[in-house]
Amino acid sequence: MENKVGAFICEGCDIAKSLDIEKLVGIAKGDSEVSVCQTHGILCSPEGLDAIRSSIKNDGLNKVMVAACSERVFPEAFDFGRDIFVERVNVRERVAWCHTPNDEDTQMLAEDCIRMGLAKVKNGEPPEPFIEETTKDIMVVGGGMAGMNAAKLAADAGYKVFIVEKEAQLGGWARKFKKVFPKHPPYPELEDSGCDKLISEIEAHENITVHLSTTIEKTTGQPGKFEIDLQGSAGSTHLQIGSIVQATGWKPYEPEKLTHWGYGVSPDVITNIQMEEMVANGGIKRPSDGKAPKSVAFIQCAGSRDPEHLPYCSAVCCRVSLKQARYVREQLPESQVFILYKDIRSPAQYERFYAWVQEDDNLFFTKGEIASVTKKGDKVAIGLEETLLGEDIKIEADLVVLATGMVPSTKVEEEEVEAPSEDEEATEVSQDKDGDTADGKKEATSAEKGAKILNLTYRQGTDLPTLKYGFPDSHFICFPYETQRTGIFATGSVRAPMDLASTANDAAGAALKSIQTVEVIARGEAVHPRAGDLSYPEFLMQRCTQCKRCTEECPFGALDEDDKGTPLPNPLRCRRCGICLGACPERIVSFKNYNVNMMSDIVKAIDIPDEFEEKPRILVFICENDALPTLDMAGMARLQYNSMVRFIPLRCLGSMNTIWINDALASGFDGILLLGCQKGDDYQCHFIRGSELADYRMGNVRDKLKQLVLEEERVQMVELAITDYDKVPKILDDFLEVIEGVGPNPYKDM
Ligand code: SF4
Ligand code: SF4
Repeated sequence: MENKVGAFICEGCDIAKSLDIEKLVGIAKGDSEVSVCQTHGILCSPEGLDAIRSSIKNDGLNKVMVAACSERVFPEAFDFGRDIFVERVNVRERVAWCHTPNDEDTQMLAEDCIRMGLAKVKNGEPPEPFIEETTKDIMVVGGGMAGMNAAKLAADAGYKVFIVEKEAQLGGWARKFKKVFPKHPPYPELEDSGCDKLISEIEAHENITVHLSTTIEKTTGQPGKFEIDLQGSAGSTHLQIGSIVQATGWKPYEPEKLTHWGYGVSPDVITNIQMEEMVANGGIKRPSDGKAPKSVAFIQCAGSRDPEHLPYCSAVCCRVSLKQARYVREQLPESQVFILYKDIRSPAQYERFYAWVQEDDNLFFTKGEIASVTKKGDKVAIGLEETLLGEDIKIEADLVVLATGMVPSTKVEEEEVEAPSEDEEATEVSQDKDGDTADGKKEATSAEKGAKILNLTYRQGTDLPTLKYGFPDSHFICFPYETQRTGIFATGSVRAPMDLASTANDAAGAALKSIQTVEVIARGEAVHPRAGDLSYPEFLMQRCTQCKRCTEECPFGALDEDDKGTPLPNPLRCRRCGICLGACPERIVSFKNYNVNMMSDIVKAIDIPDEFEEKPRILVFICENDALPTLDMAGMARLQYNSMVRFIPLRCLGSMNTIWINDALASGFDGILLLGCQKGDDYQCHFIRGSELADYRMGNVRDKLKQLVLEEERVQMVELAITDYDKVPKILDDFLEVIEGVGPNPYKDM
């Protein structure tokens, strides 16, 4: 398509007060592909926007460059339809508001911004959506409270829902609970879980089909067109599904591992699950002799918040013990109850429930660390290091209840992980040898092996990748329901330990995400975090060397591969992060509006002063997700920093192809900075491993620097959180100081 570019420059918001607009117009007009260049006092005003629209119509423009405020401001106003490629050049927050007005260096920065914007606009095309025939049906895996709530919500909204439950009945754990702790003010009375009512509603719902005693044999395909093979008592069934909610819940922490807390020393040491069963099945009795206990001790955090067992808090066990203490006191009014705790965690309004339970004179709360649990005659003796008064206490009880924690159903114990196949071993060895795989990958893949819930046929494993405690991995801050598998959402206590009230809320979130997925996929748009993006990666397969880097590094399992290692893209699984583009050494992955040539041209569009001008140039590749808004916030706060920096926004630092760094060094940039999200266990990267991969690729960059005999300090990566806007000037100015210290790039002018 022939480029017909219109350049529009805003003079409002102090832009014209800081910059020589005529010179900017001159830069734009000097470009042979720019047909029109206009300025306007307030480009975002109705008149300003009308001027752009009229020019698009009258001058036949197909591309528009708007030099004004950040692309994050008024995105809808500057959207002129799918056929018009728009590039926003930020000369407000990133130029006029953070640099000395009417200064030579500020002006040079603005002029480079115009050149970079034109380079981008000339190389980009409006993306065309990837549209395929899809289904909007939803599958919910797990028929407990989370699954039933999610299914009912989606079904009430008009979507067909299939519940797949491996047990013969719906209800999960809640069906087994006689009562639950109160959810309604004033919070004193134990309540019914509401499980039976919900089961009746599910069974009567015209939009819901329930498959009981059924497991998933195989899940293939992609969002909008998942193909599911079910295996149940009634034989096999095939479903076509648009999105999946995994609500497979939790399992209790194995008490056999809790000998320190007395499990196994006496039959009268039981778990909170056994207590629940006992209450549901006729009453509280000592397993050893069937007699009603006169004293019952609850040991809190039995294995929880312990690095040797469950390092996390399961959030509900304290309130479960408060509830079970009420069971004991109601059923056995003569009994005494002891609750031995590290801390009682009964948050928010549940504090009232805790306070109410405390009013009972026969219920004793003791804070301390358990020292020993032993059998003493027909009783159980508990030694406790009391931590409030610093005394050692001994308590003898007829029955001891261990408040054990919750383990997600996705957690695979080491012994359950199958030995790798020969093929997998070969892959791992080759990864080690050529070092193409970033640290941490193996941990994630080994965790997903063996869970066997969804039985995905994805190249990267059969189930949801999990974090170190076995919970499905997602972006824990910004979009907790999303897993690393697009269109599959985890909810309820498989996602995080939670109570039934939180589970119902959580299920609503997952139901909405699953609905959103089937709708946006049908329109050919990306799901979160690039919601609405119509672009997707295209592969120039003729030049593919089957190196497998893209398939290994795609965090979302979007790329399968054939026997030879050629990638087999599944565009509907793709989150459009561009990590495959960054990974590909052959540079054959591109998006219509984001590609290797475009970035190389943007780098080359920047004017590099010669070494005698003493104007170093620093190129900053900046992640669009957190770092770029942070930079804008610094501008909005009018924080000032040096004007030697030139920013290129990236979809994710993981989408950075190292060729751009090579290009930049070869074109004379003195320093290169990568600004992106935090990596590691507490990652904040919106695409999971993007910043980790960028850091890993820095190894190659350092090799390149050695080859060119350039100092390592010239290329650095810095993590920036969304709250770090006040750190921006120091980061940029410190880096400039480093670059001034090492001196100009000797490849300038070559
Ligand atoms: S853009 Fe991201 S999600 Fe899509 S195929 Fe490439 S690496 Fe995978
Ligand atoms: S990274 Fe590039 S060359 Fe390697 S398999 Fe993927 S597309 Fe092919």
